[in-house]
This record gives sequence, C-alpha cells and structure tokens, in this order.
Amino acid sequence: MSGQTHRRIALFAVLVGLGIVTGSRPSATGQDRDQQVASDMQRASREVVSTAATAADRFESRHLILYIDKGLLSTAAEQQFSADLEKGFVVASDYLQRTFNSRQRGVGKPSYYLTNRAGISHAGATDVFLFARRVIASPAIAIHETVHLLLVRTATTGRNREDLSADEEATLMATSGLWLVEGMASYVADELAARVPLPPARLFFDGDNSTVDTEARKWLAESRGQKVAPFVGSHGIPEDFLADRPNVAAPFYVLGHSLVKFMIRRAGVSAMARLYEEHFDGTRSIEDDVKRVTRKELSQWREEWLRFLADIR
Ligand SMILES: [Zn+2]
Repeated sequence: MSGQTHRRIALFAVLVGLGIVTGSRPSATGQDRDQQVASDMQRASREVVSTAATAADRFESRHLILYIDKGLLSTAAEQQFSADLEKGFVVASDYLQRTFNSRQRGVGKPSYYLTNRAGISHAGATDVFLFARRVIASPAIAIHETVHLLLVRTATTGRNREDLSADEEATLMATSGLWLVEGMASYVADELAARVPLPPARLFFDGDNSTVDTEARKWLAESRGQKVAPFVGSHGIPEDFLADRPNVAAPFYVLGHSLVKFMIRRAGVSAMARLYEEHFDGTRSIEDDVKRVTRKELSQWREEWLRFLADIR
C-alpha cells in the first residue's frame, strides 16, 4: 500500500459490518463487548492494509482496487470476483446517483480487501473489508458495503469524523439512526443483486426484498425481536450489537431493512439517500433529520410501518 496512510476506522464504520459471532466476556457489559470487537477489528484491518502488498493479489478495475488474500480463490475465481465487484459498484453508483468523490476523500479509488483477517465486513470512507468466509459464498454482500462507502458524503464532518473521542462517539451514537444505515444498505443490495447478476445477499435471513416484511413480522413476535425493536425507527444502538450477531444484529437488520423498504417505497430512494448522507454528515438527531427530509415525524413513519406489518397476511 504505497503512499496511502490508513485512517482510523470510526466505530460507526465498524458498526456497519455483518455476520460473525465473536466470543463474549460474561463480566463485561454489552457496550464493553462491542467496544472490544470494534477495536480488535480496527487493529486487524490496519494489519490487512499494511500487509496487502505481500499477502494479497491485487486487481484494479475502472472504479476500485481489490486485494484478495492469497490462497482464498483460484485465479479464475479471483477475476470473476473482481468483475462482479466492479459491476456491483457501478449499479450501486447509478442507482444511488452517487460517485466516489476521490478529491474529497484523498485517494483516487477505494480499496476493497477480501480477507478473513479483519473480522466482519465493514466500510469506511476509502477502504472496504469483505469477510471472505461470508462474501465468497454471497458476493452481493459487497454491494451492501459499497452502499455504505458511497453514502459517506463528507468524511470529515459530523458522525463521519474519524477523530471523534470515545465520549463524543457515544453521545452521537445515542441519537443516531443505525437502523437507517443498515436497512438502506441491505435494501439496496437486494434490489441490485440481480442486475450484476448475483443471488440476493441473504445476510440475516433466507430471502430478499420480497419477503423481508414477513421476516420482520416473525421477529416482532419473538423476544429477541421485541428487545431490539425500540431501536428501529428510533435512535441508539442495542447492546451486544457487534458481540452477539445471531441474537441482536439479526433481528435488528431485518427490522431496519423492512422499515427502510417501507419508507423508500413512499418517500423515494433519492430522499432516503439524502437522509442517510445528511444524518451522518451532521450531528442532529435522527428524529430531526427524518422530519426535515421527509416532512413527516419518525414516530409516525414507525407507527404506519408497524400497522402495515400487522396487516400482512
Ligand atoms: Zn452494513
């Protein structure tokens, strides 16, 4: 990685990862456990970047650079993965009407790393880490991460800032709409996978945008879903979000995905992309940002969505 200094990955960026179970420490709180996972991932991600030149094979395409850890794939499979990643990037960029603003981000192209060494998949403003064990089997997960990458509008302001202290980060996170971030990336990945073409991402349920509402309804009928539901269409992050993926992240992603689908179908994808960007560029609460961008209270969106789910047959 000549000439590129790796930036700290904000906890927000780490939080957008997916799908791995990590060991938990029974004496610690959920927040301690999440913080531990996040800092382990930051350290590991830095290591992946600094060793890429020797540990990985490099592929450059029109919009991005991809490093694949040696030994993961045959040469033919590496080329196929690189081609699909580039196509997924292009369809996401077209759909969201966003490009990688390289001058503002300080690098010409984003770097993607397909690796098992950096923990769950996650994206920052310039680097995307793809958890090989999940993403090789389900390459549309890369589109999910590309959505996160493209919707960082200003890497140096608000929640996107990479120099937030732990206290500032905690304060901002308490008023954040994480459901919006994960719901948006999950919805868009499923919407676009077939255009690459790839099967749906199947991150946390065995279905896609056509079945997500039924899955959400199932989660609401059980305790693990009920436990995270107060954070969906609201603010803050449930405890153990990073540390307990099957019981906390799974229902949270599915519920956020269903709510974002509901809002996109009514407010439109361009308003929702703008909401995502403005929320993370800034420091206002998710309630304020939703009201400003959609001209409707978040609590009302939430109520209408829950009523819609209750009426599914
Ligand atoms: Zn995500």
